[in-house]
Amino acid sequence: MRTLLCNARFYYRNRIDNNVKAMLIESGKITHIFLEGETLPLDATIWDMQGQYVYPGFIDTHTHSFEGGLYSAGVDLYDCKNIAEVLEQIQAALLQLQNKEDKMLFCWRLDENALAESRFPTVEELDSLGSDVCILIRRIDGHSCVINSFARKHIAQLSGNQDSVLRGVDNDHAVHWFHGNCGQEKIYEAYQTAAQIALKGGFTTIHTMIGDAEHSITHYSFIDSRLPRFPIEYILYPQSFNLEAALDAGATRIGGCILADGSIGSHTAGLTQAYEDSKDNFGTLYKTDDFWYEFIRTAHQHNLQVGVHCLGDRAIRQINNAYLKLAKTDYKDIRHQLIHCEITPNDLVLQIKTSGAIPVMQPAFDHYWGGTHGFYASRLGAERSLIMNRLKTFVNNNIKVTGGSDWYITELDAIKGMCAAMNHHNKSERLSPKEAIQIYTSNAAYLSHDETRLGLLEEGFQADFTILDSQLSILSTSDNTHIKAVIKRGELAFGNFETNV
Ligand SMILES: [Zn+2]
Ligand SMILES: [Zn+2]
Repeated sequence: MRTLLCNARFYYRNRIDNNVKAMLIESGKITHIFLEGETLPLDATIWDMQGQYVYPGFIDTHTHSFEGGLYSAGVDLYDCKNIAEVLEQIQAALLQLQNKEDKMLFCWRLDENALAESRFPTVEELDSLGSDVCILIRRIDGHSCVINSFARKHIAQLSGNQDSVLRGVDNDHAVHWFHGNCGQEKIYEAYQTAAQIALKGGFTTIHTMIGDAEHSITHYSFIDSRLPRFPIEYILYPQSFNLEAALDAGATRIGGCILADGSIGSHTAGLTQAYEDSKDNFGTLYKTDDFWYEFIRTAHQHNLQVGVHCLGDRAIRQINNAYLKLAKTDYKDIRHQLIHCEITPNDLVLQIKTSGAIPVMQPAFDHYWGGTHGFYASRLGAERSLIMNRLKTFVNNNIKVTGGSDWYITELDAIKGMCAAMNHHNKSERLSPKEAIQIYTSNAAYLSHDETRLGLLEEGFQADFTILDSQLSILSTSDNTHIKAVIKRGELAFGNFETNV
Protein backbone atom coordinates (compact mmCIF):
# COMPACT_ATOMS: atom_id res chain seq x y z
CA MET A 1 0.00 0.00 0.00
CA ARG A 2 1.19 3.49 -0.85
CA THR A 3 -0.04 6.20 1.51
CA LEU A 4 0.42 9.90 1.04
CA LEU A 5 0.41 12.13 4.12
CA CYS A 6 -0.90 15.48 2.88
CA ASN A 7 -2.16 18.86 3.95
CA ALA A 8 0.07 19.00 7.01
CA ARG A 9 2.63 21.27 8.52
CA PHE A 10 5.64 18.97 8.72
CA TYR A 11 8.43 19.31 11.28
CA TYR A 12 11.34 18.82 8.91
CA ARG A 13 15.01 19.44 9.65
CA ASN A 14 14.40 21.23 12.95
CA ARG A 15 11.50 23.46 11.95
CA ILE A 16 7.95 23.51 10.63
CA ASP A 17 8.75 23.67 6.92
CA ASN A 18 5.95 24.87 4.66
CA ASN A 19 7.95 23.75 1.63
CA VAL A 20 7.20 20.14 2.47
CA LYS A 21 3.98 19.21 0.70
CA ALA A 22 3.60 15.50 1.42
CA MET A 23 5.33 12.36 2.60
CA LEU A 24 4.94 9.02 0.87
CA ILE A 25 4.78 5.92 3.06
CA GLU A 26 5.46 2.44 1.74
CA SER A 27 6.07 -0.74 3.75
CA GLY A 28 6.23 1.22 7.00
CA LYS A 29 8.88 3.67 5.81
CA ILE A 30 9.02 7.21 4.49
CA THR A 31 10.05 6.62 0.88
CA HIS A 32 9.73 10.10 -0.56
CA ILE A 33 9.38 13.63 0.75
CA PHE A 34 7.63 15.92 -1.72
CA LEU A 35 8.76 19.52 -1.73
CA GLU A 36 6.96 22.51 -3.23
CA GLY A 37 6.72 22.14 -7.00
CA GLU A 38 7.05 18.34 -7.16
CA THR A 39 4.18 16.37 -8.70
CA LEU A 40 2.30 14.19 -6.24
CA PRO A 41 1.54 10.57 -7.16
CA LEU A 42 -2.08 9.79 -8.10
CA ASP A 43 -2.09 6.12 -7.10
CA ALA A 44 -1.63 6.54 -3.34
CA THR A 45 -4.22 6.56 -0.57
CA ILE A 46 -4.46 10.11 0.72
CA TRP A 47 -4.31 10.78 4.44
CA ASP A 48 -5.50 14.35 4.89
CA MET A 49 -3.97 15.91 8.02
CA GLN A 50 -6.25 18.96 7.77
CA GLY A 51 -3.46 21.41 8.34
CA GLN A 52 -2.30 19.86 11.61
CA TYR A 53 1.29 19.64 12.81
CA VAL A 54 3.21 16.46 12.03
CA TYR A 55 6.29 15.67 14.14
CA PRO A 56 8.60 12.67 14.14
CA GLY A 57 7.16 10.04 16.51
CA PHE A 58 8.25 10.95 20.03
CA ILE A 59 10.42 8.57 22.07
CA ASP A 60 10.50 8.25 25.86
CA THR A 61 13.92 6.91 26.86
CA HIS A 62 13.14 5.78 30.38
CA THR A 63 9.98 4.09 31.65
CA HIS A 64 8.96 1.29 33.94
CA SER A 65 6.08 0.25 31.73
CA PHE A 66 5.17 -2.95 33.56
CA GLU A 67 4.65 -1.07 36.80
CA GLY A 68 2.97 1.83 34.98
CA GLY A 69 0.57 -0.46 33.14
CA LEU A 70 -0.09 -2.55 36.24
CA TYR A 71 -0.61 0.39 38.58
CA SER A 72 -2.83 2.24 36.10
CA ALA A 73 -5.45 -0.37 36.90
CA GLY A 74 -4.95 0.37 40.63
CA VAL A 75 -5.29 3.51 42.76
CA ASP A 76 -3.49 6.76 41.93
CA LEU A 77 -3.03 8.62 45.25
CA TYR A 78 -1.38 11.71 43.81
CA ASP A 79 -4.31 14.08 44.41
CA CYS A 80 -5.08 12.99 47.99
CA LYS A 81 -4.96 15.79 50.55
CA ASN A 82 -5.04 13.80 53.78
CA ILE A 83 -4.96 10.27 55.21
CA ALA A 84 -8.77 10.02 55.24
CA GLU A 85 -8.85 10.57 51.47
CA VAL A 86 -6.16 7.95 50.95
CA LEU A 87 -8.15 5.41 52.95
CA GLU A 88 -11.41 6.31 51.19
CA GLN A 89 -9.88 5.75 47.77
CA ILE A 90 -8.43 2.41 48.81
CA GLN A 91 -11.75 1.33 50.32
CA ALA A 92 -13.58 2.17 47.08
CA ALA A 93 -11.08 0.12 45.06
CA LEU A 94 -11.36 -2.82 47.47
CA LEU A 95 -15.12 -2.95 46.88
CA GLN A 96 -14.49 -3.33 43.16
CA LEU A 97 -12.01 -6.13 43.75
CA GLN A 98 -14.46 -8.19 45.81
CA ASN A 99 -15.55 -10.54 43.07
CA LYS A 100 -12.17 -10.91 41.48
CA GLU A 101 -9.90 -13.88 42.03
CA ASP A 102 -6.86 -11.71 42.06
CA LYS A 103 -6.34 -10.45 45.61
CA MET A 104 -3.74 -7.71 45.17
CA LEU A 105 -4.27 -3.95 45.14
CA PHE A 106 -1.62 -1.61 43.77
CA CYS A 107 -1.69 1.99 45.01
CA TRP A 108 0.87 4.45 43.71
CA ARG A 109 2.10 8.05 43.57
CA LEU A 110 1.63 8.71 47.29
CA ASP A 111 3.43 11.88 48.35
CA GLU A 112 3.23 11.90 52.14
CA ASN A 113 4.66 15.44 52.23
CA ALA A 114 1.59 16.66 50.35
CA LEU A 115 -0.82 15.17 52.93
CA ALA A 116 -2.10 17.37 55.77
CA GLU A 117 -0.59 14.89 58.27
CA SER A 118 2.80 14.79 56.45
CA ARG A 119 3.09 11.06 56.97
CA PHE A 120 2.31 7.70 55.38
CA PRO A 121 -0.81 5.81 56.43
CA THR A 122 0.05 3.27 59.14
CA VAL A 123 -0.30 -0.49 58.89
CA GLU A 124 -3.13 -0.26 61.47
CA GLU A 125 -5.00 2.22 59.32
CA LEU A 126 -4.69 -0.08 56.30
CA ASP A 127 -5.76 -3.07 58.37
CA SER A 128 -8.83 -1.16 59.57
CA LEU A 129 -10.15 -1.48 56.02
CA GLY A 130 -10.55 -5.09 57.12
CA SER A 131 -9.78 -7.01 54.00
CA ASP A 132 -8.27 -10.21 52.70
CA VAL A 133 -6.50 -8.38 49.90
CA CYS A 134 -2.76 -7.67 49.78
CA ILE A 135 -2.37 -3.89 49.61
CA LEU A 136 0.76 -2.11 48.38
CA ILE A 137 1.16 1.67 48.61
CA ARG A 138 4.22 3.00 46.82
CA ARG A 139 5.73 6.38 47.53
CA ILE A 140 5.82 8.68 44.51
CA ASP A 141 9.54 8.08 43.97
CA GLY A 142 9.20 4.30 44.37
CA HIS A 143 11.88 4.22 47.07
CA SER A 144 9.61 3.40 49.99
CA CYS A 145 6.24 1.73 50.51
CA VAL A 146 3.60 0.62 53.03
CA ILE A 147 1.85 -2.75 52.97
CA ASN A 148 -0.96 -4.15 55.13
CA SER A 149 -0.55 -7.01 57.65
CA PHE A 150 -2.21 -9.48 55.30
CA ALA A 151 0.52 -8.84 52.72
CA ARG A 152 3.25 -8.93 55.38
CA LYS A 153 2.23 -12.48 56.27
CA HIS A 154 3.09 -13.63 52.74
CA ILE A 155 6.47 -11.98 52.40
CA ALA A 156 9.11 -14.08 54.10
CA GLN A 157 12.23 -11.95 53.64
CA LEU A 158 11.13 -8.78 55.45
CA SER A 159 13.39 -7.71 58.30
CA GLY A 160 11.87 -7.66 61.80
CA ASN A 161 11.61 -3.88 61.59
CA GLN A 162 8.12 -2.99 62.80
CA ASP A 163 8.11 0.43 61.13
CA SER A 164 5.07 1.02 58.97
CA VAL A 165 7.18 2.37 56.15
CA LEU A 166 9.40 -0.07 54.28
CA ARG A 167 12.62 1.33 52.87
CA GLY A 168 15.78 0.00 51.22
CA VAL A 169 15.84 -3.79 50.90
CA ASP A 170 12.48 -4.18 52.67
CA ASN A 171 10.91 -1.92 50.05
CA ASP A 172 12.51 -4.04 47.31
CA HIS A 173 11.40 -7.36 48.82
CA ALA A 174 7.83 -6.19 49.25
CA VAL A 175 7.54 -4.76 45.74
CA HIS A 176 9.18 -7.83 44.15
CA TRP A 177 6.77 -10.09 45.97
CA PHE A 178 3.79 -8.20 44.58
CA HIS A 179 5.21 -8.12 41.05
CA GLY A 180 6.35 -11.74 41.24
CA ASN A 181 2.83 -12.86 42.00
CA CYS A 182 1.41 -11.53 38.74
CA GLY A 183 0.69 -14.26 36.19
CA GLN A 184 1.66 -14.04 32.50
CA GLU A 185 -1.75 -12.82 31.45
CA LYS A 186 -1.58 -9.93 33.90
CA ILE A 187 1.97 -9.10 32.81
CA TYR A 188 1.04 -9.05 29.14
CA GLU A 189 -2.04 -6.95 29.88
CA ALA A 190 0.10 -4.43 31.79
CA TYR A 191 2.32 -3.88 28.72
CA GLN A 192 -0.71 -3.53 26.44
CA THR A 193 -2.21 -0.96 28.83
CA ALA A 194 1.14 0.84 28.92
CA ALA A 195 1.30 0.89 25.11
CA GLN A 196 -2.14 2.53 24.92
CA ILE A 197 -1.13 5.14 27.50
CA ALA A 198 2.08 5.78 25.54
CA LEU A 199 0.14 6.38 22.32
CA LYS A 200 -2.24 8.74 24.07
CA GLY A 201 0.83 10.56 25.40
CA GLY A 202 2.17 10.98 21.85
CA PHE A 203 4.85 8.28 21.83
CA THR A 204 5.67 5.80 19.07
CA THR A 205 8.63 4.23 20.90
CA ILE A 206 9.41 3.82 24.60
CA HIS A 207 12.39 2.39 26.42
CA THR A 208 11.33 0.14 29.24
CA MET A 209 13.09 -1.58 32.12
CA ILE A 210 12.30 -5.25 32.87
CA GLY A 211 13.84 -6.92 35.88
CA ASP A 212 14.06 -6.80 39.65
CA ALA A 213 17.11 -4.48 39.69
CA GLU A 214 18.99 -7.28 41.45
CA HIS A 215 19.72 -10.62 39.85
CA SER A 216 16.61 -11.48 37.90
CA ILE A 217 15.54 -10.22 34.49
CA THR A 218 12.03 -11.49 35.41
CA HIS A 219 9.76 -11.57 32.33
CA TYR A 220 12.24 -9.97 29.88
CA SER A 221 12.19 -12.88 27.41
CA PHE A 222 8.41 -13.25 27.66
CA ILE A 223 7.93 -9.66 26.44
CA ASP A 224 10.91 -9.73 24.05
CA SER A 225 9.34 -12.63 22.16
CA ARG A 226 6.02 -10.77 21.85
CA LEU A 227 7.25 -7.35 20.71
CA PRO A 228 5.44 -7.33 17.34
CA ARG A 229 2.10 -7.65 19.16
CA PHE A 230 2.32 -4.14 20.62
CA PRO A 231 1.13 -1.02 18.77
CA ILE A 232 4.25 0.88 19.85
CA GLU A 233 7.89 -0.12 19.79
CA TYR A 234 9.40 -1.17 23.10
CA ILE A 235 13.16 -0.90 23.55
CA LEU A 236 13.89 -3.32 26.36
CA TYR A 237 16.45 -3.25 29.17
CA PRO A 238 17.13 -6.32 31.27
CA GLN A 239 17.18 -4.37 34.53
CA SER A 240 19.50 -6.48 36.63
CA PHE A 241 23.12 -7.16 37.52
CA ASN A 242 22.91 -10.58 35.91
CA LEU A 243 25.17 -10.22 32.87
CA GLU A 244 24.89 -13.85 31.96
CA ALA A 245 21.09 -13.76 31.87
CA ALA A 246 21.14 -10.59 29.77
CA LEU A 247 23.57 -12.12 27.25
CA ASP A 248 21.64 -15.42 27.16
CA ALA A 249 18.48 -13.46 26.38
CA GLY A 250 20.25 -11.79 23.45
CA ALA A 251 20.15 -8.30 24.97
CA THR A 252 22.42 -5.53 23.69
CA ARG A 253 22.14 -3.52 26.87
CA ILE A 254 21.79 -4.01 30.62
CA GLY A 255 20.62 -2.01 33.60
CA GLY A 256 18.14 0.79 34.02
CA CYS A 257 17.21 1.65 37.57
CA ILE A 258 19.92 -0.54 39.02
CA LEU A 259 20.84 1.73 41.86
CA ALA A 260 24.06 3.61 42.47
CA ASP A 261 22.11 5.68 45.01
CA GLY A 262 18.51 6.22 46.14
CA SER A 263 16.33 9.32 45.94
CA ILE A 264 16.31 12.84 47.30
CA GLY A 265 12.85 12.30 48.81
CA SER A 266 14.15 9.36 50.83
CA HIS A 267 17.44 11.13 51.77
CA THR A 268 19.34 8.37 49.99
CA ALA A 269 20.71 10.24 46.95
CA GLY A 270 24.52 10.15 47.24
CA LEU A 271 25.85 13.67 47.82
CA THR A 272 29.23 15.39 48.14
CA GLN A 273 27.76 17.94 50.56
CA ALA A 274 25.29 16.90 53.25
CA TYR A 275 21.55 17.42 52.98
CA GLU A 276 20.42 20.88 53.97
CA ASP A 277 17.62 19.47 56.15
CA SER A 278 19.55 16.51 57.57
CA LYS A 279 22.99 17.57 58.74
CA ASP A 280 25.87 15.09 58.41
CA ASN A 281 23.73 13.01 56.08
CA PHE A 282 25.46 12.51 52.72
CA GLY A 283 22.98 9.97 51.43
CA THR A 284 23.96 6.49 50.35
CA LEU A 285 26.16 4.87 47.75
CA TYR A 286 24.72 1.38 47.49
CA LYS A 287 27.85 -0.23 46.00
CA THR A 288 31.61 0.33 45.98
CA ASP A 289 33.63 1.92 43.17
CA ASP A 290 35.27 -1.46 42.56
CA PHE A 291 31.95 -3.22 42.24
CA TRP A 292 30.74 -0.77 39.61
CA TYR A 293 33.96 -0.76 37.66
CA GLU A 294 34.01 -4.53 37.50
CA PHE A 295 30.35 -4.76 36.47
CA ILE A 296 30.57 -2.02 33.85
CA ARG A 297 33.91 -3.29 32.50
CA THR A 298 32.53 -6.81 32.03
CA ALA A 299 29.40 -5.50 30.30
CA HIS A 300 31.55 -3.26 28.10
CA GLN A 301 33.75 -6.21 27.20
CA HIS A 302 30.64 -7.99 25.92
CA ASN A 303 29.51 -4.86 24.05
CA LEU A 304 26.53 -4.32 26.34
CA GLN A 305 25.36 -0.75 26.78
CA VAL A 306 25.01 -0.01 30.51
CA GLY A 307 22.40 2.18 32.22
CA VAL A 308 22.67 3.02 35.92
CA HIS A 309 20.36 5.04 38.17
CA CYS A 310 22.48 7.81 39.68
CA LEU A 311 21.05 11.14 40.75
CA GLY A 312 23.25 12.65 43.45
CA ASP A 313 26.61 14.11 42.35
CA ARG A 314 28.62 11.56 44.35
CA ALA A 315 26.76 8.68 42.69
CA ILE A 316 26.97 10.20 39.19
CA ARG A 317 30.71 10.69 39.64
CA GLN A 318 31.10 7.10 40.80
CA ILE A 319 29.43 5.73 37.65
CA ASN A 320 30.91 8.26 35.27
CA ASN A 321 34.41 7.47 36.58
CA ALA A 322 33.95 3.89 35.42
CA TYR A 323 32.75 5.07 31.99
CA LEU A 324 35.65 7.52 31.84
CA LYS A 325 38.23 4.85 32.57
CA LEU A 326 36.82 2.60 29.83
CA ALA A 327 36.63 5.48 27.35
CA LYS A 328 40.37 5.93 27.86
CA THR A 329 41.47 2.30 28.00
CA ASP A 330 39.03 0.50 25.73
CA TYR A 331 37.00 3.00 23.68
CA LYS A 332 33.91 1.63 21.97
CA ASP A 333 30.88 3.49 20.61
CA ILE A 334 28.52 1.94 23.15
CA ARG A 335 26.83 5.05 24.60
CA HIS A 336 26.57 4.14 28.28
CA GLN A 337 23.86 5.89 30.26
CA LEU A 338 23.64 8.05 33.39
CA ILE A 339 20.01 7.67 34.31
CA HIS A 340 18.41 10.73 36.02
CA CYS A 341 21.79 12.51 36.36
CA GLU A 342 20.24 15.24 38.49
CA ILE A 343 22.97 17.03 40.47
CA THR A 344 25.91 18.01 38.29
CA PRO A 345 28.42 20.70 39.26
CA ASN A 346 30.33 22.20 36.31
CA ASP A 347 33.42 20.01 36.62
CA LEU A 348 31.24 16.91 36.56
CA VAL A 349 29.49 18.14 33.40
CA LEU A 350 32.88 18.33 31.70
CA GLN A 351 33.81 14.86 32.90
CA ILE A 352 30.56 13.51 31.46
CA LYS A 353 31.41 15.16 28.17
CA THR A 354 34.80 13.42 28.23
CA SER A 355 33.40 10.01 29.09
CA GLY A 356 30.85 10.24 26.27
CA ALA A 357 28.10 9.00 28.57
CA ILE A 358 24.52 10.04 27.87
CA PRO A 359 22.40 11.65 30.59
CA VAL A 360 18.91 10.10 30.39
CA MET A 361 16.90 12.82 32.06
CA GLN A 362 13.41 13.59 33.32
CA PRO A 363 12.41 17.22 32.67
CA ALA A 364 9.24 16.62 34.70
CA PHE A 365 11.34 16.17 37.86
CA ASP A 366 12.18 19.85 37.66
CA HIS A 367 8.55 20.68 36.90
CA TYR A 368 7.37 18.95 40.08
CA TRP A 369 10.26 19.45 42.48
CA GLY A 370 12.55 22.17 41.07
CA GLY A 371 12.82 25.89 41.76
CA THR A 372 14.52 27.81 44.56
CA HIS A 373 11.42 27.30 46.75
CA GLY A 374 10.66 23.80 45.57
CA PHE A 375 11.02 20.43 47.24
CA TYR A 376 14.59 19.87 46.02
CA ALA A 377 15.65 23.25 47.42
CA SER A 378 14.11 22.36 50.81
CA ARG A 379 16.25 19.21 50.94
CA LEU A 380 19.41 20.52 49.29
CA GLY A 381 19.37 24.30 49.64
CA ALA A 382 18.44 26.89 47.02
CA GLU A 383 22.01 27.21 45.75
CA ARG A 384 22.39 23.53 44.96
CA SER A 385 18.98 23.49 43.28
CA LEU A 386 20.61 25.62 40.58
CA ILE A 387 22.92 22.81 39.50
CA MET A 388 20.12 20.30 39.05
CA ASN A 389 18.57 18.84 35.91
CA ARG A 390 20.94 20.85 33.74
CA LEU A 391 19.38 20.27 30.38
CA LYS A 392 20.67 23.38 28.65
CA THR A 393 24.16 23.09 30.14
CA PHE A 394 24.43 19.58 28.72
CA VAL A 395 23.10 20.68 25.33
CA ASN A 396 25.53 23.62 25.26
CA ASN A 397 28.36 21.18 25.92
CA ASN A 398 27.27 19.01 22.97
CA ILE A 399 26.28 16.20 25.31
CA LYS A 400 23.46 14.19 23.76
CA VAL A 401 20.99 14.32 26.64
CA THR A 402 17.70 12.45 26.17
CA GLY A 403 14.22 12.92 27.64
CA GLY A 404 12.16 10.44 29.60
CA SER A 405 9.40 10.33 32.17
CA ASP A 406 10.54 7.53 34.48
CA TRP A 407 6.84 6.61 34.25
CA TYR A 408 5.22 5.48 36.64
CA ILE A 409 7.06 8.24 38.57
CA THR A 410 5.79 11.04 36.28
CA GLU A 411 3.21 10.96 33.48
CA LEU A 412 3.91 9.21 30.20
CA ASP A 413 3.19 12.35 28.22
CA ALA A 414 5.45 13.81 25.52
CA ILE A 415 3.92 17.30 25.63
CA LYS A 416 4.36 17.54 29.40
CA GLY A 417 7.97 16.38 29.14
CA MET A 418 8.89 18.84 26.40
CA CYS A 419 7.03 21.73 28.02
CA ALA A 420 8.81 21.02 31.31
CA ALA A 421 12.13 21.22 29.44
CA MET A 422 11.15 24.53 27.81
CA ASN A 423 9.91 25.98 31.12
CA HIS A 424 12.64 24.82 33.50
CA HIS A 425 12.45 26.68 36.84
CA ASN A 426 16.04 27.77 36.29
CA LYS A 427 15.88 30.04 33.22
CA SER A 428 19.44 29.24 32.24
CA GLU A 429 18.56 25.54 31.91
CA ARG A 430 15.54 26.03 29.62
CA LEU A 431 15.63 24.33 26.25
CA SER A 432 14.40 25.95 23.07
CA PRO A 433 11.47 24.16 21.39
CA LYS A 434 13.92 22.72 18.84
CA GLU A 435 16.14 21.32 21.60
CA ALA A 436 13.18 20.01 23.57
CA ILE A 437 12.00 18.13 20.50
CA GLN A 438 15.53 16.80 19.89
CA ILE A 439 15.82 15.17 23.30
CA TYR A 440 12.59 13.24 22.60
CA THR A 441 13.41 12.40 18.96
CA SER A 442 16.87 12.35 17.36
CA ASN A 443 18.88 12.24 20.61
CA ALA A 444 16.57 9.53 21.91
CA ALA A 445 17.11 7.54 18.71
CA TYR A 446 20.86 7.99 19.10
CA LEU A 447 20.70 6.48 22.58
CA SER A 448 19.53 3.13 21.21
CA HIS A 449 21.80 3.33 18.12
CA ASP A 450 18.70 3.92 16.01
CA GLU A 451 19.69 7.31 14.60
CA THR A 452 19.46 6.11 10.98
CA ARG A 453 16.00 4.64 11.51
CA LEU A 454 14.09 6.70 14.09
CA GLY A 455 13.72 10.27 15.35
CA LEU A 456 13.60 12.25 12.09
CA LEU A 457 11.27 12.74 9.17
CA GLU A 458 13.65 11.73 6.40
CA GLU A 459 13.50 9.38 3.45
CA GLY A 460 14.38 5.83 4.46
CA PHE A 461 13.33 6.40 8.08
CA GLN A 462 10.53 4.49 9.76
CA ALA A 463 7.12 6.10 9.18
CA ASP A 464 6.52 7.11 12.82
CA PHE A 465 4.58 10.33 13.28
CA THR A 466 2.94 12.22 16.12
CA ILE A 467 0.24 14.64 14.99
CA LEU A 468 -0.63 17.69 17.08
CA ASP A 469 -3.32 20.31 16.53
CA SER A 470 -0.93 23.10 17.57
CA GLN A 471 2.67 23.98 17.18
CA LEU A 472 4.61 22.54 20.11
CA SER A 473 6.36 25.81 20.96
CA ILE A 474 3.11 27.47 22.04
CA LEU A 475 1.91 24.68 24.34
CA SER A 476 2.28 24.62 28.13
CA THR A 477 2.78 21.91 30.74
CA SER A 478 -0.93 21.75 31.53
CA ASP A 479 -1.90 21.05 27.90
CA ASN A 480 -2.65 17.43 27.30
CA THR A 481 -5.33 17.20 24.68
CA HIS A 482 -3.31 18.27 21.66
CA ILE A 483 -2.26 14.84 20.44
CA LYS A 484 -4.62 14.10 17.60
CA ALA A 485 -3.12 10.98 16.09
CA VAL A 486 -0.12 8.70 16.21
CA ILE A 487 1.14 6.72 13.22
CA LYS A 488 3.51 3.82 13.86
CA ARG A 489 5.32 2.11 10.97
CA GLY A 490 2.91 3.75 8.55
CA GLU A 491 -0.21 2.57 10.34
CA LEU A 492 -2.69 4.59 12.35
CA ALA A 493 -2.15 3.51 15.97
CA PHE A 494 -4.11 6.21 17.79
CA GLY A 495 -6.65 8.95 16.99
CA ASN A 496 -8.05 9.61 13.56
CA PHE A 497 -8.08 11.80 10.46
CA GLU A 498 -9.82 11.92 7.07
CA THR A 499 -8.78 9.34 4.49
CA ASN A 500 -9.87 9.17 0.89
CA VAL A 501 -8.80 6.59 -1.60
ZN1 LIG B 1 13.59 4.55 36.57
ZN1 LIG C 1 15.77 5.38 38.77
